[in-house]
Amino acid sequence: MTSKEIRESFKVFFENKGHKVVPSAPMVIKDDPTLMFTNAGMNQFKDIILGHAEIKYPRVTDSQKCLRVSGKHNDLEEVGHDTYHHTMFEMLGNWSFGDYFKKEAIAWAWEYLTEVLKINQDKLYVTIFEGAEAEGLERDKEAFDIWKSLIPEERILNGNKKDNFWEMGDQGPCGSCSEIHIDLRSEEEKKAISGAELVNKDHPQVIEIWNLVFMQYNRKADGSLDELPNKVIDTGMGFERLCMALQGKTSNYDTDVFTPIIQSIATLTGVEYGASKDTDIAMRVIADHIRTIAFSIADGQLPSNAKAGYVIRRILRRAVRYGYTFLGRKDAFMYTLLPVLIEVMGEAYPELEHNRELIKRVIKEEEDSFLRTLEIGIRMLEGKIEELKSECKETKLSGQDAFVLYDTYGFPLDLTALILHEQGLSVDEAGFDKAMQEQKARARNAAAIDASDWQVVSEGESTFVGYKLDNCPTKILRYRKIVQKKKEYYQVVLSQTPFYAEMGGQVGDTGYIADGDKKYEIFDTKSENKLCVHLMKKLPENVEAQFTAQINVEKRNKAEINHTATHLLHKVLRDILGSHVEQKGSLVSSDLLRFDFSHFSKVEPEQLREIEQVVNQRIRENAPLELHSGVSLQEAKDMGAMALFGEKYGDEVRVVKYGDSVELCGGTHVQATGDIGYFRIISESSVAAGIRRVEAVTGEAAEKYAYEQEDLLNEVKQAFNNSPQLMTAVKKLIDEHTALSKQMESVQKERIARLKSDLLAERLEKNGIRIFIQKDITPAIAKDIAFQLLGEVKEPFVFIGSGAECSEKCSLSLMISKDLVEQNSWNASTLLRSAAKHIQGGGGGQAHFATAGGRNPKGLESATEQILSELNLG
Ligand code: ATP
Ligand code: MG
Repeated sequence: MTSKEIRESFKVFFENKGHKVVPSAPMVIKDDPTLMFTNAGMNQFKDIILGHAEIKYPRVTDSQKCLRVSGKHNDLEEVGHDTYHHTMFEMLGNWSFGDYFKKEAIAWAWEYLTEVLKINQDKLYVTIFEGAEAEGLERDKEAFDIWKSLIPEERILNGNKKDNFWEMGDQGPCGSCSEIHIDLRSEEEKKAISGAELVNKDHPQVIEIWNLVFMQYNRKADGSLDELPNKVIDTGMGFERLCMALQGKTSNYDTDVFTPIIQSIATLTGVEYGASKDTDIAMRVIADHIRTIAFSIADGQLPSNAKAGYVIRRILRRAVRYGYTFLGRKDAFMYTLLPVLIEVMGEAYPELEHNRELIKRVIKEEEDSFLRTLEIGIRMLEGKIEELKSECKETKLSGQDAFVLYDTYGFPLDLTALILHEQGLSVDEAGFDKAMQEQKARARNAAAIDASDWQVVSEGESTFVGYKLDNCPTKILRYRKIVQKKKEYYQVVLSQTPFYAEMGGQVGDTGYIADGDKKYEIFDTKSENKLCVHLMKKLPENVEAQFTAQINVEKRNKAEINHTATHLLHKVLRDILGSHVEQKGSLVSSDLLRFDFSHFSKVEPEQLREIEQVVNQRIRENAPLELHSGVSLQEAKDMGAMALFGEKYGDEVRVVKYGDSVELCGGTHVQATGDIGYFRIISESSVAAGIRRVEAVTGEAAEKYAYEQEDLLNEVKQAFNNSPQLMTAVKKLIDEHTALSKQMESVQKERIARLKSDLLAERLEKNGIRIFIQKDITPAIAKDIAFQLLGEVKEPFVFIGSGAECSEKCSLSLMISKDLVEQNSWNASTLLRSAAKHIQGGGGGQAHFATAGGRNPKGLESATEQILSELNLG
């Protein structure tokens, strides 16, 4: 079976068992503060599992793009070195939300593997949870009994809590699980050691393929367990591993998911796959990472220097660096693998083809810029190597230096070690580990969020009324305390709320809840897995009171105006620049709006002006808001909304329409475009390759912006005595300035020539060395004189120039003729640095010429004397 057929057969099998087939959710996660990337199939159902969203389909199946490179699941270091862990992989899964449980989940998994795919039962082992007495968790006898009816008892193995008890986090849903492992070794190997002994022992051919999780409990902050009201089946099978098993291979990279990519890398680099261990690893790393990078860009996560973007950047750099070190690629090449990747995966994941141009450009630019960094890093390392060699006895690069190379220049320890090794040097690995641990600890402390259990005040569902109302009566449903970076605050859930929770770029509302005349501030509102949480520094005295919830109306209105303006801008950008323009990010606050979009060159000033004009035209047309909520994705597309990737299946969408602007949007908006008033673009810039950013202001802020521009112009006019011909006056001033500079230059030259000839006329000399000393000159003049002397004076000489600009600023320069430097190993830089202490300053330069600046002109005399006496010229 081909990989495409395998993926299909899984979905068809579970569809026939009454499951709804849904598409993969995006790999990049936007609305869950605890997670940057989807790392398991269950992520997109977290809101359902937590009870925040209703169960629309009790049985669901899909193939989910997952990424395991950070947090709880991080396989990055394994990838490429082994043959069965990827950064990005596909997870085939089936779910039951409060419907079937262990019996069906186990029986169907077995039926699919052994009857549909016809995998030989003798290759399979399963594990069940052995229990953990200390925590009051029993052995999963139920799963054992079900398995025993299907498979010989000796193939059912006990597993410990680490492998066979699944938890969402420190808190939340959890339960035992049962894994299915496959033994892909040859008959002889199996005879020598039984597969049962190798399960969960990191053997590359005895591997886990499927995990069946039985979520049964909810773990509370104190560690105790409650039964979940709706038990959940959550299964995940590694697609690439399954392909390996079915295609008779012993490495994921030998399946048709990867061979075309590996083949392309071989052609590109002229290195055959299988040629050596190191080149094989490098090829696997690249084949794996190109998928991750391409998919995350398609999902809207570009490489950057923070958070999720930084994770992606590091993955890309890891691949480039393996190519650089082991495959001899010194130029960008990863981006040329995109066509073959699209060939392999484009059909199942159309977002790749859709973003082809953007992905290509972003990858190429990242590669180019990293290769430059890599070169700088190599130069820096070479400098360190020289230092080490000149210090003679040190043969180890310090752990701290190695860590800087790692952290700033993307040099992993093995690369640094390799380069050092070639020079007969080594690296302090323990010191490196220590620096690494310290950094990790810092990151952990910065990110740590400590949440207590929810305190339930009253039962009920939270409803959002903020599309229509600014205030409403409400009650507190539940609250909990959060400690983050030593700051304490509360998350509060209200029965009904006018507060918009930060989403889709629009900032969360602020405001208060009031109990009579006592007001309690809400400083932000966020959405956590679809739950609207209000953030408060202080809880009300009586949490059971009847409250009035009131948002800050002025702030909200301004945000609304900016949000509607963002929609108009998006449409006008597409009309004027072309339909390749797509939203890649946005921020809508009460102060301004920021819109990132795909576009491959700078937006020219005339274009910006035109865009601004058309948006203002749309504003004056005063198109009314047309709202359609609760429509299906198809209906939305029919209305003209752009096909958006990244919507979750089954989500009913909300369509926001003004004239011909049609967007899927959950945000809040003005009644008609005229409410925006006025729109001004304040900046246009680049965010990354192929992504531009426009910032704009509206309404009052736009008016203020226009006044500021006018004020500035008036100030300039005043500076030119309100000249009626302002531009003529400005040009005249510039011309005068240029002429004066020229004059100044020739005066300067004359002065230098005079000073120099005076110096040459006066013959000061000791030990056969001529001495030139010139006071009261600027460092620029000193340098000029020094280098002219160097060209003209044939005898050995020393030149010292000095001067003070004011009582607190002075400079000192030193030139030593090159013959003296070579013969006596004199060093101007060292001499000057030591002499600079007299002027409370510092400086440096080269062996024959150096300059220093200082804060104490009174010390110039003694500094000069020190230099002369150290050279025996005093
Ligand atoms: P392993 O111990 O092999 O790392 P796991 O216990 O981390 O696996 P689960 O979290 O149970 O795996 O994920 C479910 C399935 O997803 C696994 O049975 C495996 O087939 C697959 N899988 C997990 N991690 C990876 C990965 N990094 N690359 C490819 N497939 C994976
Ligand atoms: Mg794992």
